[in-house]
Amino acid sequence: VGSINLDTVLSQQQSPGVNGISALYGRCDFANGGKGTNQASAVAKLGGRAALVGCVGDDDAGGSQLEALEALGVDTTFVRRLPGVQTGRAFMMLRPDKTYSSANIVGANGFLVPQYVEAALDARRFDLVIMQLEMPLETVYRTYELARDRGVPVIFDPGPARSIPLERFEGIFILTPNEDETEALTGVRVRNRAGALRASRLLWCETHARYILLKLGARGAYLFDGGRGEFFPAFPIEAVDSTGAGDSFTAELGLRLCLGEDIRAAVRAANAAGAICASRMGGQPAVPTQEEVRAFLERFRETPV
Ligand code: ADP
Repeated sequence: VGSINLDTVLSQQQSPGVNGISALYGRCDFANGGKGTNQASAVAKLGGRAALVGCVGDDDAGGSQLEALEALGVDTTFVRRLPGVQTGRAFMMLRPDKTYSSANIVGANGFLVPQYVEAALDARRFDLVIMQLEMPLETVYRTYELARDRGVPVIFDPGPARSIPLERFEGIFILTPNEDETEALTGVRVRNRAGALRASRLLWCETHARYILLKLGARGAYLFDGGRGEFFPAFPIEAVDSTGAGDSFTAELGLRLCLGEDIRAAVRAANAAGAICASRMGGQPAVPTQEEVRAFLERFRETPV
């Protein structure tokens, strides 16, 4: 997965680029990434146990990603290396407050069929499934149904901003779209509290999810439980690169809920994990450890954010 960092244009002297693109735009980095892998590595780095279900090609990018996951202790038993298939590559443009991606990259996960998911769910006892849209839509829906039939709660963190029918997620545990995904799913651009409530209500009416949780970048998060909504303001940090912030957020949220923590405390901790990640360069390397999240929350304990 490639990433072009547009915002290092100004610091080019300190960090000379690696090729022609960098001469025009700034530094050019190549990094492992993709939503599922980011989430699995975030869960592992934050102290949980994660298994990833997915596909990579039998190329260098796939090998590099597998190595990185295994180094973090992610169970890669259910990651298939597909011969003759290319691992997905995306170009990202980074700004401190937002990452622009060459959208809708499914890559090798286009070959992810429901049977792969079923095999994993049968082989391991999962406390939680986190899933996204970077696979065929039928696999997305079947993943929810397979998990639900086994009594495993599911967090759906949509991933690419796409408009899809949501009825088949009836009764899902949590939906965690970011701003763009919320707009793609509801047509509502969330600009304020009223917009957050309106978008959440629309999502809730379609899914009757236990919680709708909007990730709103530098504005924090908005939690809706079918009745009332509540804003959780972001922690004040100096953002340098938000890549992976949403994945850190979702991983921390999922871990806390698995440990039986109250939803509000879990959202606050998730906001902290997202904020720490956004304050550092990179995606997977920027994910904090649980100790860092704890220390960060401690620092803000007296602050009413
Ligand atoms: P995604 O990475 O999925 O697009 P967001 O950009 O909304 O999601 O970020 C996820 C979470 O990370 C936010 O809800 C917030 O808690 C935290 N976060 C992201 N950017 C910032 C920021 N600039 N300042 C503080 N927290 C941030």
